[in-house]
Order: sequence, then C-alpha cells, then structure tokens
Amino acid sequence: MKLTADQNTLPLSKNALTVLERRYLKRNSEGKVLETPADMFRRVAEAIAAAESRLGTGNDPQSLAAEFYQMMTSLEFLPNSPTLMNAGRELGQLSACFVLPVGDSMESIFEAIKQTALIHKSGGGTGFSFSRVRPANDVVRSTSGVSSGPLSFMKVFDAATETIKQGGTRRGANMGILRVDHPDIMDFIMAKRDQTVLTNFNISVGLTEAFMDAVESGGEYDIVNPRTGEPVKKMPARKVFEHIVDLAWTNGEPGIIFLDRLNRDNPTPHVGEIEATNPCGEQPLLPYESCNLGSINLARLVTPEGQVDWDRLKHIVALAARFLDNVIEVNNYPIPEIDQMTRANRKVGLGVMGWADMLILLGIAYNSPEAAALGEKIMKFITEEARSTSRQLAAERGAFPNHKGSIFDKKGAKPLRNATSTTIAPTGTISIIANTSSGIEPLFAVSYVRQVLDNDVLVEVHPLFEKLAKERGFYSPELMKVIAEHGTVKDIAEIPEDVRRLFVTAHDITPEDHIRMQAAFQTHTDNAVSKTVNFCNTASREDVATVYRLAYREGCKGVTIYRDGSRDMQVLSVAKKE
Ligand code: ADP
Repeated sequence: MKLTADQNTLPLSKNALTVLERRYLKRNSEGKVLETPADMFRRVAEAIAAAESRLGTGNDPQSLAAEFYQMMTSLEFLPNSPTLMNAGRELGQLSACFVLPVGDSMESIFEAIKQTALIHKSGGGTGFSFSRVRPANDVVRSTSGVSSGPLSFMKVFDAATETIKQGGTRRGANMGILRVDHPDIMDFIMAKRDQTVLTNFNISVGLTEAFMDAVESGGEYDIVNPRTGEPVKKMPARKVFEHIVDLAWTNGEPGIIFLDRLNRDNPTPHVGEIEATNPCGEQPLLPYESCNLGSINLARLVTPEGQVDWDRLKHIVALAARFLDNVIEVNNYPIPEIDQMTRANRKVGLGVMGWADMLILLGIAYNSPEAAALGEKIMKFITEEARSTSRQLAAERGAFPNHKGSIFDKKGAKPLRNATSTTIAPTGTISIIANTSSGIEPLFAVSYVRQVLDNDVLVEVHPLFEKLAKERGFYSPELMKVIAEHGTVKDIAEIPEDVRRLFVTAHDITPEDHIRMQAAFQTHTDNAVSKTVNFCNTASREDVATVYRLAYREGCKGVTIYRDGSRDMQVLSVAKKE
C-alpha cells in the first residue's frame, strides 16, 4: 500500500490527538507511544482489508486498504473504539457490543461473570437480561435455602467490572435489564437510587405491550415467577409506571426499552428471542451475539455549496458496509460461543455522527420539522444502500448462515450477508476523534467542558460558531466568554436571530423535539438509536411520563432521559464560571 500522508497532514484536532495518545495508539511495555495516528489508521485499514484474502474474494486487499485508510483519515467514517484500538494487534478484539445469557443457576451466573471479565479486558461492553433469575427469597431446592435474587447478583457483576477496569483501555460498561413482570421489579427500579452502587451498570426496565396497554387502560398486569413460569400476583400498571418515571426523574435511571418492539424487528426469531441490549441501548442482541459498529461523519458530507453530498454518501456507505463485514471475519472473539453466534448472524451497525453539525452547515435548525424530515431521508438512504451492499456481499461471499428461516427468507427477499446493517451509536469517543457532534444528538452547548476517559477534562468552543461569528462580524473574545458562562446563545441579544436559531442546544429544544428526532432516525434503522432526552431541572414527573408515552406512540425502541443537575457526576456539563 502506498501511503504518503503522515500525522501532520491528518485533519486531527488537539483533543483528538490527546484522546488517541492516551488510549488508542500502540505503546511498548514502558508505556512509550510506538505509532502515529497515521500509523494507527494504516494498521486498522490493512488488518480489515486482509479479510479479502482470507475470504478469497479476488479483491485486491492493498487497494481496498488504501480506500479504508482514506475514508478514516478524512474522518468521513470511523469504526467503534475497539476496532481502532485492537485491529492488527495481538488482542484483535474489535466489537463494542456483547450480550451474554444469565440463567437461573449458580453455574450460569458465575460463568457469565467470567465471560464478562474476558470481554471487558478486551474493551467491549456487555448487556444482560436478569429476567430469568428467580426472585429474592424464592426456594433453592439443592440447599433448602432461599435465593438472593437478580439484584444481589448484579452487584457481583458490578464488583467484577470494577476490579478489571479493562487494563487501562476502557472503564467497563454493563447494561442490566429486567422485565417489568419480574417479581423483583420494584426493587430493580430503585436499584440505582443510591448513586454509589452499581456504578458500572446502566439499567433499563423491559416493558411489554401487555404492560403498556394496562398503563393506558388503568388496569393490572401479571407478575410471573421465571422459575415456574406461573403468574404469582397482579400489579396495577400505572403504579409501576409512575415508579419508573419517578426514579428516572430523580436521577436518569432506569431507562426503558420496549421488548415486543425489539422482537418485532428480530431478524432471526428462529434462533432466539431478544431480551437485552448493549450498554448504551442501541444494539439489541441475542445471547452470545456481538456486534461491531461504525459511524459516518455527516458533517464531512456537505458540499461547498451547502448541500448534502449524496454521491459521496453513497460511496462511503458501500465502503463502510464492506469494512464492517470484514471486521466480523478478522475479529478475534473472546469465547467460542460468541465466535459462533456472531458469525452465524453477522450483525453490523452502521450509523452516523455529526448530524447536528451537518444541520448547521446546511442552515437548518435542529428543532425544525425540516430537520426531522431530512434525518429520516438520510437514514432511509443509508439503510437502503447498506442493505444493497450486504446483498452484493452475500452474492460474493454467501448469505449469513442463519438466513434460512429468517424474516428475510420468509419474505422471499434476496439473501443478505448481514442480519442487521444499521445502528445509531452514541459515538462518545469517536466523535471527539472526528471533531464533530456526537451521534444524532443536538449540540450540548456552544461552549462547554467535556469530561472524557474517566477524569480528563477538555474545554471546547464550537468551531462552526466561532467561524460564523468571525464571518458575520460579531466575534469578540468577551462575547465568547459570555457564551461559555451561559452555555446557550438563545438569549444573547447581540447575536443575530438566525444564528441563535441554528445553534440551539440540547436544553434549548423541547423533550418532544428530542423524541421526534429519535423517531425519525429509528424509522429507518435496523437496530436501535442511542439518544438522550434532556429535560431542564424544573421539569415535572408528568413531563417525563408524557415523553415516555410519546416515544411509545412514535415507534421508538427505548428511551433514556436525563434531567439537568439530577446526578452528581455528569459526563457533559456546561462550563462553570471560575
Ligand atoms: P466509541 O465512540 O468509543 O466507539 P460509543 O460511545 O459509540 O463508543 O459506544 C458504543 C458502544 O460501545 C456502547 O453502547 C457500549 O456497548 C460500548 N462501550 C462504550 N464505552 C464503553 C466502555 N467504557 N467500556 C466498554 N464498552 C463501552
């Protein structure tokens, strides 16, 4: 491969370089950095293109590696962090997302803890459904004792995660899910009220349609003991719903996911039922599945005339879809069960980042109907093009092995190489590397302090705002300071009205605007959409309940909310006055 670009010619920001140096670049045993960012992208491009020789596709791995390299160094596409960190290296574990089964036995629970340790060591995040674990105080026949219940076991997973801390690459992240009809549901909902416990877990309640119907009608629903499969009592649905809302209002957790909806989109129901998602909720998976994600940076796909560059987008989607399928091939899986399941369904999750920045470049306000309509159009385009590539790959390399019996097979559609093609990830770290807004989120603030990688702090002013302020002649260092203190430009009179409208932040828009955008992207996303719905501190519990109902009506697969100031530790916070 002929590559001439070096570190200095890559368009990397200072923050990107900091993040890359801290966690992504190869180091020797003394901790000395051994590669430049350009070397890293070359390492990744070559390792992923090497799948072509393995598959015997007849494609030239070297020219494909050059295309992959170009697509990453131009920051038009980045794979999820583990791929950047581990491709072409000894560890070689490239997926961000895993789901492990947790059965109702000591053997199964502690086996899952061991498997979790192996996954965390390699930089992946794990999701679990604890719904099959018998409730607290249920019978244990073998010891004639009583069971301790899902919550107490979650604490063991949490402690294991805490201890591993992933050997310095990533902190370790888990998702714990419990069905709303599990006998321990009320305790689960309260599990994170004390903010010092289960700190390595996100938790979500798995809601069923029967439950949502009962909330609507004011009725009751069955609580079922998973050990016997028998209903043990009835609960008033509204009371449980209000409990969830109350805790989410108090500190942002639990989130909710709509289980029936995840299963309606389950491409391989003949292989199993979906009970859980990865840590941030965007990737529903079957037990033992892993998924690798990648995100297209939409902000890089705007023409100089201020239009969406559809031709370039089409090209990048095709290349990225091939890249992600190749990742499955060269991936080094932490345990054999995951190797087998992942290769059998071949799920990938191509998504986007830089959506808010793209809208600014196009001159469209995030909270306008035009923005939601364009979001839907772009995601439709991406999913259709990604599927079209997946069909081509199937013709070239074979369909995913579980295709027979899948929903696609039943529809008589042309075989696909991948059971799913698209997912919208949070892009928490890769958006810093790409120097763009994260996922499909609006700007958090026009100027802010961002906490990254545990305890590092970075201060940022939005580059597009600074540029525009200079062009339009209202830039001054004093004004930038005022904005940093406010976080929002909404009420600053000396900024022209149209600019204020364009630079709306997560708190300037309504929770309904957030949901509408999530729903717009969800309509055309195979998997799910990572999105946080921000509420102002004064929002009421009823406001939260309204948004949950709206999300359900609009076809979202889950909701994560956050009311400003409700948690001690926030990942993003508006710059405070010194
Ligand atoms: P990135 O930007 O680093 O590629 P994202 O913020 O898009 O990652 O997160 C995607 C997924 O990666 C998450 O849903 C989760 O499964 C996994 N993940 C993110 N952060 C961590 C972490 N610290 N430890 C383990 N897994 C993580």
